[in-house]
Amino acid sequence: MIIDCHSHVWDVRRHLSRGFIRDFTSVYGKGEDALKATPDKHFDSMDGVDKVVVVAFRSRVLRVNVPNEYVSEYASKHPEKVIPFCCVDPNDEDAPMELKRCVKAMGMKGLKLGPIYQHFDPTSERAGRVFEVAQDLEIPVLIHQGTTFVRDAPLEFANPILLDKVARDYPDLRMIVAHLGHPWEDETVALIRKQPNVFSDVSGLTYRPTRLYLKLLSCLEYGVMKKLVFGSDFPFGVPKLVIRDLRRVNRLAKSSGLPMIPEELIEDVIAKNAGQIFL
Ligand SMILES: [Zn+2]
Repeated sequence: MIIDCHSHVWDVRRHLSRGFIRDFTSVYGKGEDALKATPDKHFDSMDGVDKVVVVAFRSRVLRVNVPNEYVSEYASKHPEKVIPFCCVDPNDEDAPMELKRCVKAMGMKGLKLGPIYQHFDPTSERAGRVFEVAQDLEIPVLIHQGTTFVRDAPLEFANPILLDKVARDYPDLRMIVAHLGHPWEDETVALIRKQPNVFSDVSGLTYRPTRLYLKLLSCLEYGVMKKLVFGSDFPFGVPKLVIRDLRRVNRLAKSSGLPMIPEELIEDVIAKNAGQIFL
């Protein structure tokens, strides 16, 4: 079963901020259209995927707000396929209450956090209040550790190493580090190797195929391939193309004599490993 563990829906003009759109277009050299992620477009792009995690997003500082209700409403139209994740901003006083409401009253299945976007330290007390509730509710947390194109996003909160303390404080909490924590993939490897309930998605990495190969080789040598799960980060990637590129990851190995990443382990990333998180 293919589960896309990381995707977005939004109305660009209504939910994103001018600054977010400006930073995206200036770093990637693409137009605003590349950000389009309406529910209809999202659903059409999920061809070939059995289930898909769709995340809400809220950052007070960046003035980005993809409401929990928006994601929940989309999920209610496709309950067999869409797994809705809510988002709360730990800087909000009522964040723990809002998380409880989203899960208990609205039936949302997980939580999305982005310390770099929401300007919070994952090891701080205010973040701990939210992690504790997530652990009690037994929901997984998809957490963006790693860098971003957004200018007003503090890199000091981005390193995946920060999650080691969170995993020690909340040992039953299932966490998925987004994007293998790029460009700190090796820190993510160290983290997911020692923390049994911490995983990582491989979304957002196929645009840099050489780096992807080298970092998967690192995952292979440290024995953590089974902790990796598939994600597209739609609209930044489309599942079909991400899967195609994951299957091409050994191209560099074939032409250089470097070791191959076993194909069955790549297939497990695409279609099996997420079963450990979404039972
Ligand atoms: Zn994302």
